Amino acid sequence: MADKLTWIREEINALKEQGLYATIRTISSPQGATLVVDGKAVLNFCSNNYLGLANHEALKAQAIKAVQQYGVGPGAVRQIAGTTDLHLRLEQRLAAFKGVEAALTLQSGYTANLATVAGLMGKEDVVFSDELNHASIIDGCRLSGARVVRYLHNNIDDLRRVIGETSGYRRGMIISDGVFSMDGDLAPLPQLVEVAEQYNLLLMIDDAHGEGVVGRGGRGIVDHFAMQGRVDVEIGTLSKAFGVMGGYVAGRKEIIEWLRQRGRPFTFSSAATAADVAACLAAVDILEASTDLVDRLWANTRFFKGEMLRMGFNIGHSQTPITPVMLGEAPLAQAFSRRLFDEGVFAGAIGYPIVAKGKARIRVMISAAHSQDDLERGLAAFENVGKELGALG
Ligand SMILES: *Cc1c(COP(=O)(O)O)cnc(C)c1O
Repeated sequence: MADKLTWIREEINALKEQGLYATIRTISSPQGATLVVDGKAVLNFCSNNYLGLANHEALKAQAIKAVQQYGVGPGAVRQIAGTTDLHLRLEQRLAAFKGVEAALTLQSGYTANLATVAGLMGKEDVVFSDELNHASIIDGCRLSGARVVRYLHNNIDDLRRVIGETSGYRRGMIISDGVFSMDGDLAPLPQLVEVAEQYNLLLMIDDAHGEGVVGRGGRGIVDHFAMQGRVDVEIGTLSKAFGVMGGYVAGRKEIIEWLRQRGRPFTFSSAATAADVAACLAAVDILEASTDLVDRLWANTRFFKGEMLRMGFNIGHSQTPITPVMLGEAPLAQAFSRRLFDEGVFAGAIGYPIVAKGKARIRVMISAAHSQDDLERGLAAFENVGKELGALG
């Protein structure tokens, strides 16, 4: 008789046979333009460390100072056992940076989505959700128990159609990624705002890949489209451009006040650590002081993408530093990633279920941390491997 775990072994073998088994490499260096991966020094082309803040001296200094002042652990859930002044200060600074009424920090962007969707929506409600929304939004919808009506990616006509065909609900909310994490395209925010206002629906935007990247000085997608005050609630992460760890909700003050009472990851899970929060405060200082890092990120992005197109790679239709190198089938993407690694470039393959079957890719993440020489060496490796594996158009 089969034991209780036979099915897991079979599933794992199936992943390996289909080229969908993720090999997780081991890093033994700080984040930056180069990394030591599996003992080898390589160029880093796949982290979300957009601005190079993950190993920034000012952030590290503030984190160390906070450990000395507050220790390492938060002790408990903030609602039950109190919050540090540090957490409150970060919330005020984030709200000011984003140009919203209030903000609430959580342990991650993932839990910020769970808190917000499940805090605002219930069984009698409906969420209109872009079909390519991030998994943490999908999980938030599940936790909420709300009916989920998906619309075609970035398709406002389809959004209007599904809204028109849906009735009998108590409250409704439209949710979209601001920057779509796998393709790097932007949500059509002005039209989403118009539809939300017309149908009196809440509008929630996940700005995880937008903040620190798009908008003035990296203020995010709402700033990019000058839609301040017209998006009810935004989700942010502190683990990408901010270079640290954590998430937040930003928006109308009633929503933030409500989530402090009833956001489940806020009320049932301990706070972020003082070190993380202090490092995030230093990141906000840097973003508010200068646009240099954001400008360098975009200069690097323009150069890298221009060269990839010139070589004949299919890099999709990204509008941001996210550069998907489209390869089709998962085994080709995995082989490509392995060959890049031989050439000294770390860029992981992404396949199903993160992206659709047949849309496997290498997702290159450009950073302000890359020097011109780093970019040129990376491009040379892409060209060699692209020729060898027949991936140039
Ligand atoms: C990365 C990401 C998240 C999750 O953020 P974490 O802080 O890593 O949990 C949420 N939403 C989107 C769109 C993301 O890209």
